[in-house]
Amino acid sequence: MSNFLESVNTNFDKAAAHTGLPEGLLNQIKACNSVYQMNFPVKIGKEYKVIEAYRVQHSQHRLPTKGGIRFSQKVNQDEVMALATLMTYKCAIVDVPFGGAKGGVKISPREYTPAQLQKITRRYTAELIRKNFIGPGIDVPAPDYGTGAREMAWILDTYMQFKGGEIDAAGCVTGKPVTQHGIRGRGEATGRGVYYGVREAVSFKDDMDKLGLTTGLAGKTVAVQGLGNVGFHAADIFQKEGDAIIVSVAEYEGAIYNEKGIDIDALMKHRKKTGSILDFPGAKNMKQRKQVLEVECDILIPAALENQIRIDNVDRVKAKIVAEAANGPVTAEAAEKLIERGVMVIPDMYINAGGVTVSYFEWLKNLSHMRFGRMEKRFNHNTYMNLVGLVERLTGKTIGAKEKDFLTRGADEIDLVRSGLEETMISSYHQIRDIKKRKKKVTDLRTAAFISALNKISSDYLALGIFP
Ligand code: NAD
Repeated sequence: MSNFLESVNTNFDKAAAHTGLPEGLLNQIKACNSVYQMNFPVKIGKEYKVIEAYRVQHSQHRLPTKGGIRFSQKVNQDEVMALATLMTYKCAIVDVPFGGAKGGVKISPREYTPAQLQKITRRYTAELIRKNFIGPGIDVPAPDYGTGAREMAWILDTYMQFKGGEIDAAGCVTGKPVTQHGIRGRGEATGRGVYYGVREAVSFKDDMDKLGLTTGLAGKTVAVQGLGNVGFHAADIFQKEGDAIIVSVAEYEGAIYNEKGIDIDALMKHRKKTGSILDFPGAKNMKQRKQVLEVECDILIPAALENQIRIDNVDRVKAKIVAEAANGPVTAEAAEKLIERGVMVIPDMYINAGGVTVSYFEWLKNLSHMRFGRMEKRFNHNTYMNLVGLVERLTGKTIGAKEKDFLTRGADEIDLVRSGLEETMISSYHQIRDIKKRKKKVTDLRTAAFISALNKISSDYLALGIFP
């Protein structure tokens, strides 16, 4: 078993001990229900390559199952099982009514042209269709490490070719481009969710007092590992909306540091021009990219891959808060050490749940065949205009055009998506924090998050009458 899957199950067992649920039920919740391993040929140039790939459905207690597809040379069955398992708990924590799943294709996307990646993605989708492992009511993939909206568009198109006339076909995959039945705000969703979640965590004075920090994000120093879909948006939003100072970032090619702060927009332009984040004006290059994990900062956001903070480097981590934007970046052993030292670890299964939350909104949009906000935007605008007009008449004063625009705007799709995401991240954090406060023996947020998930999932099973 990989460290990652072991870590997830160790954390599960630790939390399960606080629930008093029957062992049989806990074993059923913990088990991966369906594992589909496939090998398929794809013609690359003049040769045929045999591609190894997976789709794992961890739990079908709620349908469809849901989880991203990872393209990485490191993909293996245990990793996909661990990721699928996390998805079940994640969905429960943020009240997204899905079971957990995950897919993986064992390739390094950098080694293929877009046309070749398209061939691989389409063939993978065809395999999923053949085995009934995809569909709006069955299993709904989404982007993960190494994939994005482009791949999701290929998946949808392949699905439509096989399932012509299926009315809800667009809901077979989420994270699609907005022009291809996607939803506004999905690209930024995971990073934005990290922002809302951490902002909530640092708003409690008693929790911050224990860490020796003040409340609020403004002025807090932040280090980010990985500037992909999750890490880039997180860094960007922490800087622009939270007024946090991004002191260090790492990417594949290395890491940089500037105690005065790194302008993320300017850094991305620099990377586009030079092909690297290194040698960014004002910042120091670090010797090794993993040093980003060890810089002096208030908040560390590992947003690349699993098993980054381990027993061999955990003692050098100086951050007071670690927000697990990636899945499984801190091993169970290392997390124990951090918690012992009083570090606040905000667990992956909560803090990176923004992606699946907005995927849920996208799926709902696909099933309703209508953009959010279309029915009420104008109605709300007209109502607010009437109210503002009334205030003007009653006071005899005129409200300025800019202010009037602000006050009378009806919500667009992006406003509603962000509002739904913000509400989800705030209310789920409160649920987790309340469990931690109530249960005196629970000392960390991960165990509390697991308990929150287990309570919800077990009540589904108990309602079915399968367990006493
Ligand atoms: P991505 O492929 O868009 O970005 C990952 C980035 O990390 C890449 O730019 C890569 O070059 C960089 N990277 C890889 N190894 C690194 C290292 N050792 N040091 C520094 N940078 C490194 O992937 P993503 O979608 O942003 O996913 C990142 C993590 O977040 C994964 O663990 C994924 O499972 C998790 N996640 C993603 C989503 C989502 O919506 N995409 C949702 C929840 C969780």
